Amino acid sequence: MSERPGARPSPHPSPRGGEGGFRFEGKVVVVTGAGSGIGRVIAHRFAAEGAKVAVVDWLGDRADGVAAEISTAGGKAAAFRADVSQAPEVEAMVAQVESQLGHVDVLINNAAIADGDDVLRIDEATWDRDVAVVLRSVFLCSKAALHSMIGRHGGAIVNIASVNGISALGNEAYSAAKAGVINLTQSIAVRYGANGIRCNAIAPGTIRTPIWQERVDRDPVVFERLVKWYPLGRVGEPDDVANAAMFLASEEASWITGIVLRVDGGLLAGSARMTRELLAEAGSEELEP
Ligand code: NAP
Repeated sequence: MSERPGARPSPHPSPRGGEGGFRFEGKVVVVTGAGSGIGRVIAHRFAAEGAKVAVVDWLGDRADGVAAEISTAGGKAAAFRADVSQAPEVEAMVAQVESQLGHVDVLINNAAIADGDDVLRIDEATWDRDVAVVLRSVFLCSKAALHSMIGRHGGAIVNIASVNGISALGNEAYSAAKAGVINLTQSIAVRYGANGIRCNAIAPGTIRTPIWQERVDRDPVVFERLVKWYPLGRVGEPDDVANAAMFLASEEASWITGIVLRVDGGLLAGSARMTRELLAEAGSEELEP
C-alpha cells in the first residue's frame, strides 16, 4: 500500500460505509487504466466502499499517485505497473496482486487508447495497437483473473466498452475493438455463468476525461458543442460510469450477466438533434432544448 506526500485530494473520501455498511468490504478489485479519468474515479469509489484496490496503469508514476490519493483518503490501494495488452506483464501483475492483496473478486477492464482514424488513413501498426490495448487486454486480464475466480466459484468482471462499439461514431479500430469487447463480454458471461462468474459491459457516451485533452486543446468548446446530441442535455462525468460499474460488480446485480449498460445520456436512444429539427419544422412548441 502506498502513500505519497503531495498526492491529489481524493474526490471520494473513504471509507464511508453508511446504513448498509461497506458494499465491497475486503474485496479485491483490480482496475486497469486507473491512473487517469474514469479508471481513477472507479478506483476511488470502490476504495470508499471498503475494497482493496489494485490501481493498474502502464505509467507506474500515475498508478502510484492514485494509490497514494486513496491511501491519504483512508482507503486501501496498491499500485501496479503493467501494459495490459502484453501477456507476460498481465500475468506478472495478477500474480503480484494475488500475493499482495489476495484473490481477485472484481476485475474492471478499463484501459484503452484510440489513436487511429478512418479506414483510409489508419496504418496497420496503429490498427493493431488500438485493437491490442482495447480488446486483447480484456482477453488477457480476464483470462488471468478467471482461473482463481472459477476455483472459488465467484467473481465479477465489468468491461468498459463504448457507444462506439454499438454505432458508427468514428475511430474505426477503437470502435471495432469495442464491439469485440461487447461480444467477448457475452461469451464470458455465458461460458462461465455456471462457475458463479458474472461479466457485463458498460457503453459510455462522451465522458469528460483527459483522453479528450487533445480535442479540447484544438477546440476548447468541444463538450458544449457535443451537448446538442445528448437528450439529457450534458456530457457525462466519470462518476456516471463509476456508479454503473459499482452496481454491476455488486450483489445488487447478482442476476445480471452478459448485458451492455449504456451510460450515454440517451445518445443512442435516438437523434436528439434530428428530433428538434423535425419538431421545429412542424412548428411544435416543444422544440427548445
Ligand atoms: P484516460 O483518461 O486516457 O485513462 C485511461 C488510462 O489507461 C490512462 O492512464 C492510459 O494511459 C492508461 N492506459 C492506456 N493504455 C494502457 C495499457 N496498455 N496498459 C495500462 N494502462 C493503459 O481515458 P478515459 O476517458 O478515462 O477512458 C477510460 C475507459 O472509458 C476506456 O476504456 C475508454 O475507451 C472508455 N470510454 C471513454 C469515453 C470518454 O468519452 N472519455 C467514452 C466511452 C468510453 P495513457 O494516458 O498514457 O494512454
